[in-house]
Amino acid sequence: VELRWADLHENIVATLVILRPQYKDNIEIIRNFDKNISQIECFPGKLNQVFTNIIANAIQAIDEKSKNNKIIISTQKLSKEESPLNIQTVKISIQDSGKGMKEEIRQKIFEPFFTTKEVGKGTGLGLSISFGLIEKHQGKMEVESIIGEGTTFLIYLPIDRNEI
Ligand code: ADP
Ligand code: MG
Repeated sequence: VELRWADLHENIVATLVILRPQYKDNIEIIRNFDKNISQIECFPGKLNQVFTNIIANAIQAIDEKSKNNKIIISTQKLSKEESPLNIQTVKISIQDSGKGMKEEIRQKIFEPFFTTKEVGKGTGLGLSISFGLIEKHQGKMEVESIIGEGTTFLIYLPIDRNEI
């Protein structure tokens, strides 16, 4: 639970290494990283937990038998003026080509214990915990989803906490 400066992209890549055994070659992970981003002031272990939850969900939303699936992870540095947080921010977008969600499901995914997975396959805690961890960073998390097309999680995090 230590606040420190850590490299955002290294954190994301470490998550991908851990998740590699959980998906097959039918999923391509595309990294679209902004070169203007390096270190951010954060709780690195907590961010790792958030990325693990969201990317694991993305992998599970993709049908094992379908081909040409993508998970696109993009980062972008936003100025104070561009950011919904009103300070210098990193925007992280995690977009999957999975099954998507209906609006009524999308509205509930951040609630503790909400899951659509079979008994034993999901606790329904990943996203509610992740939401709390982003709040702990004074950040913001949003989700957009279209049935049959996929889901995108957007995370906004402050770069320098002295600006908050
Ligand atoms: P769990 O994964 O244990 O079900 P989460 O809190 O991680 O719990 O997710 C809650 C629910 O949100 C999932 O059961 C699923 O219905 C939905 N969900 C989360 N991420 C995605 C995604 N990328 N695509 C489709 N549905 C998703
Ligand atoms: Mg989950």
